[in-house]
Amino acid sequence: MAIEPVAPTGARQFEIVESRGATERFTLISPDVCVCKECLDEMKDPGNRRFEYPFINCTNCGPRFTIISDVPYDRPKTSMRNFEMCADCNAEYEDPTNRRFHAQPNACPVCGPHVFIANKDGALLGAGGNAIELGASLLKEGKILAVKGLGGFHLAVDAANESAVQRLRELKGRPDKPFALMAASVFQAAAYVEINDAEEQLLTSYHRPIVLLEKKDDDPGIRLAPSIAPYNTCLGIMLPYTPLHYLLLDKGPDVLVMTSGNRSGEPLSIDNDDAFDAFAHIADAFLFHDRDIYFRADDSIMRVQKAQGRFLRRSRGYAPLPVDLKPLSGKVLPRVMGCGAGLKATVCLTRERYGFLSQHIGDLENIKVNGFYDHTISHLKKITDIEPEIIAHDLHSGYYSTAWAKRKGEDGIPLLGVQHHHAHALSCMAENHLDGEVIALTLDGTGLGSDGHIWGGEVLTCTYESFERRARLLWLPMPGGDAAAREPWRMAAALLYKVYGRDFLGLDIPYIKEMNTSKLEFLAGMMEKQVNTPLTSSAGRLFDAISSLLCIRHEITHESQAAMALEAVANSQDIHARYHFEVRPQDDGCSVLDIAPAVDEIVGDIKAGRPAGIISAKFHNTLVAFFVAAAVKVRDASGLNRVVLSGGVFNNDRIFSGMIEALESCGFSVYTHSLVPCGDGGIALGQAMAAAAKWTRDH
Ligand code: ZN
Ligand code: ZN
Ligand code: FE
Repeated sequence: MAIEPVAPTGARQFEIVESRGATERFTLISPDVCVCKECLDEMKDPGNRRFEYPFINCTNCGPRFTIISDVPYDRPKTSMRNFEMCADCNAEYEDPTNRRFHAQPNACPVCGPHVFIANKDGALLGAGGNAIELGASLLKEGKILAVKGLGGFHLAVDAANESAVQRLRELKGRPDKPFALMAASVFQAAAYVEINDAEEQLLTSYHRPIVLLEKKDDDPGIRLAPSIAPYNTCLGIMLPYTPLHYLLLDKGPDVLVMTSGNRSGEPLSIDNDDAFDAFAHIADAFLFHDRDIYFRADDSIMRVQKAQGRFLRRSRGYAPLPVDLKPLSGKVLPRVMGCGAGLKATVCLTRERYGFLSQHIGDLENIKVNGFYDHTISHLKKITDIEPEIIAHDLHSGYYSTAWAKRKGEDGIPLLGVQHHHAHALSCMAENHLDGEVIALTLDGTGLGSDGHIWGGEVLTCTYESFERRARLLWLPMPGGDAAAREPWRMAAALLYKVYGRDFLGLDIPYIKEMNTSKLEFLAGMMEKQVNTPLTSSAGRLFDAISSLLCIRHEITHESQAAMALEAVANSQDIHARYHFEVRPQDDGCSVLDIAPAVDEIVGDIKAGRPAGIISAKFHNTLVAFFVAAAVKVRDASGLNRVVLSGGVFNNDRIFSGMIEALESCGFSVYTHSLVPCGDGGIALGQAMAAAAKWTRDH
């Protein structure tokens, strides 16, 4: 806060005047906030004029980001502009003592938005309170309801109804990716999952993220549908956040599946007509409303690890709140942009000491997601009033984000290519306000290296300006290229080939028996001739390989599925043993983490009939010990003692917690993510920091 005395201007009274679109506009836009207790109490009071009104809100709560088209945040610049306030609402709006004083989305049943319900042929079945009653009773009957929410549509079914959940899976073409749930209360959720204090705080926070919570051991009395999250030890649960959700859960089932209403791979539907088109073959009915969503925001996904909330996806309830950053070399941050990578894309704009990370955009392989990407950038630029002076991008030229940056480069904006894992490391440094040089352990799926190979199991030393690669996982071929990321059995073959050569075909283990011999021979031939076998040091691919080698998962239908299944089988095992490995120094200064000795021991354990859960636990321990040993070597050589952990593999709790404990017991200061995702959703922040550092140095 800056205080400065000014000369009297001659004003005679205190006035609140209309906002002007000033040139130096800079207001922090609030994210959407869940309905507050006072509004909920009014909504439940039959004597209140907003009794059971699903759009009740006040200055303490309600929609913000998703209904705003421009700043300043006034009603005419929101999707409430179509609703003229009645006399009662207007009186509240103008009364400084009222909770709804200048509440831009203020509304009531007389003047505000309404809900209505339609069947799949588009016929209107009911409106207002009747629509919600009918929607709730359809859910109780096991029907699929498309529900228009705050940041987009959901597809809802009764979470206790297995056949309804399975039908939703079939119709949505989503065989086994976990569904998110919405539970009426913490009490309801606690029947199915373990909830500690930190988790309860997160669940009930006004951001209302989906929180991943450990399933309780099966109790036949209170089972939810098993196909909600098969092969998973957690359920993703959120509490209601709009008044409409509260009404629906109050009148309908206590726990609903609430999965994103989107066509596979596409952005969330936000428009009534589009949703009707997209889900006519899925939903039995549509619970619509007539307040437009200007800006889509997926539900945020979090998990408590080491007593702190961590993002798997940072979106509704958080975006566009900035990440508070530290100035570089004492100077405020320049206006720069990081444009993300290819998966789970977000973008980041910086200004002063803020990093504005966009909401989750999605995987940029889809043309509709590309459109949303463009739209997100122009909207974020508008509401933050940032026109970037330099744009940082990934090194991978195949990403839409990189192509987008290159187009801006042709218009004369300076560009900076930032290596994927360097950006991961910087995002962790930035949110922890670290300066100088650190050791970075970056473990993730795929990122293009500066040598043209695919990295993902790296030990770096880095600053905001540059990095050095100090150690990496052993190169493995990826037979079939991208196909190897979708088909973990290929990576298992690559791992065995690397250790045993062609002889692996003769191994007497279940993996070889379950595989088609001619397919394996074909793969071995590819690796021999080095045809379509790019090299990778990815930790994610190593997880895939082990998962398939243990016959847990040979093929996947969604990202990191094989790795998650591998973690899940190990979960209840309290095992401290590990396998052997070798850290081999190389001439180029980058040591190789050679996993071959461990693989041979794993094959031995498989032959000896050891359970997959134990082998998996030992593998996790091995990987942790491996990277800690590498970090110690780097410390010995460099004197650095601060370690940042980044990359999607740290979503694996066994790796995450194990790594922190092991590093700390070796005396390292360990820094982790809690403000942005450790996966590719956080990478734009790191890119932006690299660009800011370059700009600051050059000017
Ligand atoms: Zn309120
Ligand atoms: Zn009204
Ligand atoms: Fe990554």
